Amino acid sequence: MRVSANALRVPGLLALGISILLAGCQSAPMRSETSSPAGSAPIASMGPEAGDGPPQSSSPGDAVGEPVDANAPARGEIHDVATAEFALPAGLPEATADANTMVAHFIDVGQGDAILLEFSCAAMLIDTGGEDTARVSGKDRLQTYLEEFFERRSDLARTLQSVVLSHPHADHTGGVSVLLEAEPAIVIMNVLDGGPPSSHASGGKGQRDLEAYANDTEGVGYLGIAESDIRTVSGATSKVIDPINCRRGGVGVDPKIAALWGRADLDVAWANNANNDSVVLRVAFGKSVFLFTGDIQAEGIAAMLESYSADQRAFNADVLKVAHHGSHNATTAALVAAVTPKIAVIQSGDSWPDDERFSAYAFGHPNATALTNLLDPENGITLARDQPKQVRVGTKGRHPTNGTPPDFTYWTMDKAIYANGWDGNIAIKATSDGVLTVETEY
Ligand SMILES: [Zn+2]
Repeated sequence: MRVSANALRVPGLLALGISILLAGCQSAPMRSETSSPAGSAPIASMGPEAGDGPPQSSSPGDAVGEPVDANAPARGEIHDVATAEFALPAGLPEATADANTMVAHFIDVGQGDAILLEFSCAAMLIDTGGEDTARVSGKDRLQTYLEEFFERRSDLARTLQSVVLSHPHADHTGGVSVLLEAEPAIVIMNVLDGGPPSSHASGGKGQRDLEAYANDTEGVGYLGIAESDIRTVSGATSKVIDPINCRRGGVGVDPKIAALWGRADLDVAWANNANNDSVVLRVAFGKSVFLFTGDIQAEGIAAMLESYSADQRAFNADVLKVAHHGSHNATTAALVAAVTPKIAVIQSGDSWPDDERFSAYAFGHPNATALTNLLDPENGITLARDQPKQVRVGTKGRHPTNGTPPDFTYWTMDKAIYANGWDGNIAIKATSDGVLTVETEY
C-alpha cells in the first residue's frame, strides 16, 4: 500500500531526522593544485568589514558591488579567460562556542524559496516564497516561521540585516507583503536584488514594493546587482551584500557574503528568462560554505561558470541550495563539479497532492535529472542521510499545453539530499570549524 507523505508526518518542529556531518573531515575532490581545501574560505575579506565592531549599517545608494578583494583576479567578461591567481583565504579568528554557529533555515513554503540565515548577532532572508494554492499558503507559512523565530531571538529586535530577492518570480517574492505589513514591524536594513523587474515578471509587484521600501526609508541600503558588476573570481561584496559582522571584542564570526552572479544584461534569449538573472550568493561562515543559486537554469549556469573559467573555486561549497526547485534544467553536471557539495537542499513542495497549477506536482519536482547530477559518483553528494528514505521523484512535469499529467517514480535516498517536499522544514547548523548538522521536520 502506498503511504502518503502526509501520513508520515510527525507533529512538532524538527522532531526527527537529525544528522551530524563533519564537513571538515571529508574533503571534496581538489579541482586544481592550488585549490583550497573544501570548506575553507577562499574569498578574502573586504577591508572595511574586517575587524571588530558592530554590524555595519549601510547607507542608501550603495550602488556598486565592489570586488570582495581588489587584488583578486579579474573575472573577465563572459567567454573571456582571466589569468591572475586567486586570492588567498583570510585568517579566521578564534570564536566562542556561543558565537561559533550559524543556522540556515530552509523554510517549507511549499513550491518556492525562503531561506532564513541566523547568526549570533543578526539574521537575513533570501527570498520570500512561495506556493499559493488552495492547500498551501507560502505567505502564511513564512509569517508563522518568522514570528516564531523572532520570538525565540528577541535579541534581534525583529530586524533583518538584509532581504535578498534572487529574481522577480512570485514563488520568491510572494511573501514580501508579510515583511512589509508585519505588526509589530519587521525592520529591514538592506535590500539586494537584480534591479527593477520587467513589467511582466510574475513576482514583479513584490520586488517593486520592497525596492520602494528601501528607497523611501532612510538608512536602508539597496543594491540591484548585474553580473557585469562582478569583476573578480571571488565575486562582489559591499555593505549591502554583506552587512553582517558578528565578531566583537575578538570573539565571534564575521561571515563573508559575496554575490557570484546577478542580472544578465545580454542580448541572448536565455538572459531574458528571469531565472537566469538569479542573484547567486556565497556565504562563508568560517570553514562552512553555503551556495544559494536562486532559480538559475542550465544556460545561465553555463555562462556563469564560463565567466569564472580562470578559477571556479568560489563555487566550492559544503551546502548547495539546488537551483530552480530541482527542475530538470537547474543543476548541471558542470555546476556540481564546481561545487562538490556535501549536502544539497531542494526547495520544492510536497508533490503528492495533485494540484493543477504552480506546485511540485505540476512541475514534477524534484526531477530525476537534477538528482542524478547531484548523485554523480565523482563530484556529487558524499555525505549520507542519517537513514535512507523513500522519496518521490519527478520524471516529467505536466505538459504545458495538452495537460498530460506528470510522471513520478520512487527512489530510496541515502545521500544527504533533502527537499522540503520530502522533509518539511529543514535547518542546517554550521560551525565555523566546519561541523554541519541537519535537522528535518519529518
Ligand atoms: Zn522559483
